[in-house]
Amino acid sequence: MEWTCSECEQRVPDTLFDTDERMCHECLDQSNCDHDNKVYQPSEPENKVPEDYNCEDCGKSFEIPDEEVDYER
Ligand SMILES: [Zn+2]
Ligand SMILES: [Zn+2]
Repeated sequence: MEWTCSECEQRVPDTLFDTDERMCHECLDQSNCDHDNKVYQPSEPENKVPEDYNCEDCGKSFEIPDEEVDYER
């Protein structure tokens, strides 16, 4: 049996699924995370590293802020 995660809408087998939360384990981890350790990765074309902004703890990607990230907030 497969479920569709309410968060990422990925189809996941029920062994990877928390039926109470209706979220896959990946999204559950992300929803339980405060995302306190978001890191901005500036693009490095010479190293083929794309610009990215994500949480170090759970790996969730966030929209890249227009301005430089303000770590004081
Ligand atoms: Zn999910
Ligand atoms: Zn996080």
